[in-house]
Amino acid sequence: MSQLPLLAGETGFEPTPEAARARLEAVDPGAYARTRNALDGAVTRLSPYLTHGLLDVPEALAAIRTRHHVPVSHKLAFEFGWREYFRHAWRHLGEGVLADVRPPPWSGRYASAMPADILEARTGVPAIDHAVRELHATGWLHNHARMWVASYVVHLRKVHWRAGADWMHAHLLDGDLGANHLSWQWVAATFSAKPYVFDAGNVARYAPRAWQCGGTVVDRSYEALDALARGAPDVGPEPADPRGRSGPRPATEPPAVHASPPADALAGLRTADEPAWLAEIVAACAASGDARVRIVHPWSLGAPREGGPATRVGLLHAPYHSRFPWSSRRWAFVLGAMRTHVEGVHLGDARRALDALLDAGLVPVLRDALVPGWREAIEAAARRGAVVEPVPREWDDPDRLCGSFTRFWNIVSR
Ligand SMILES: Cc1cc2nc3c(=O)[nH]c(=O)nc-3n(C[C@H](O)[C@H](O)[C@H](O)COP(=O)(O)OP(=O)(O)OC[C@H]3O[C@@H](n4cnc5c(N)ncnc54)[C@H](O)[C@@H]3O)c2cc1C
Repeated sequence: MSQLPLLAGETGFEPTPEAARARLEAVDPGAYARTRNALDGAVTRLSPYLTHGLLDVPEALAAIRTRHHVPVSHKLAFEFGWREYFRHAWRHLGEGVLADVRPPPWSGRYASAMPADILEARTGVPAIDHAVRELHATGWLHNHARMWVASYVVHLRKVHWRAGADWMHAHLLDGDLGANHLSWQWVAATFSAKPYVFDAGNVARYAPRAWQCGGTVVDRSYEALDALARGAPDVGPEPADPRGRSGPRPATEPPAVHASPPADALAGLRTADEPAWLAEIVAACAASGDARVRIVHPWSLGAPREGGPATRVGLLHAPYHSRFPWSSRRWAFVLGAMRTHVEGVHLGDARRALDALLDAGLVPVLRDALVPGWREAIEAAARRGAVVEPVPREWDDPDRLCGSFTRFWNIVSR
């Protein structure tokens, strides 16, 4: 099996367009199709760049297609399709992605918080403990590992998917409320027809030896796992091995999460309160003779287009970050990318900030975003004359919600 090399830095995710381009150049669709299910398979690791707008799906596919034949029937196109499906569903469901779309398969009461043994990677189920450590250490996890963790948390430990989704979202560099929360719901069977469960054989097939789960709670038949998902309370962490064969389970501290940018992530970026921010923008626009202001937000970190506004400013919506805090790694990634576009950033209220610009006779120009708070702010600003650029899509965004990916794909890939 091949594995894409890490390209730079500790985790291989440099927040630059060059790093995104290098990842694109390394994509090997043939190897991807053969190996994508394996933890060391040739997956693209493009997701942090796609989530934060350093790349978009049509641009990524077009770049890959300059070197490879990737028809719509190709596995890689299909997976990009999943991304667009979740965005389609998120647009329709709005904040509905944060609550059960359908009732869960178990009638008991799911816990509302993540147990310490999971957060500290000491459940005794090796695949889960390794995945948690990897997520905390790198900010990224292979799709299969995400599915195993979500399945274990929800179906075996009986934690409500929302608690798990919020935790994972905070640590992922690609954390996206549409893809993440709906994937958790897909695993949980609140956005799919049946619970997703995995067994020790599945782990043995796709993960390295250290992740193997023989002898643990997942070492049983799919029928038995499905019955646990639907009918049993929290199975708890694995019992300690009385003969000590499995060794101690060292706890790891989960990294802190932050509702506002940590100082080291901000380094080199000026912060400004609203009046100072506004005064500076008004002066810059007057100097350039252009009333347009490019708003650079965390989901629009791509290279500026030619002919765009001369004045570019950074804006963070504080209420979103209070609700969905990020790890310092995520902050460093986002602000690192922002720093290549702007010298300063305002952490405030997106709606108030956009209104203030419009009140001053300026024209905000910004990319659409569906995250809570931003979505409402952008819609309101658009009604007042702001220029909103849609997120480019490869496939259509049907007017009516498609309740399943299959339905969506049948419509858009024809
Ligand atoms: C529980 C869970 C949580 C997830 N949370 C997120 C998230 O917060 N953000 C996120 O971008 N993806 C999320 N995914 C989807 C998927 O795991 C990641 O997009 C993928 O692992 C990213 O790695 P990659 O770029 O190497 O993907 P590749 O396999 O190389 O795929 C290329 C691109 O296609 C898209 N893609 C691939 N698989 C999926 C999928 N199943 N769903 C949606 N898009 C997909 C991604 O944009 C990805 O970058 C989640 C999946 C699960 C099961």
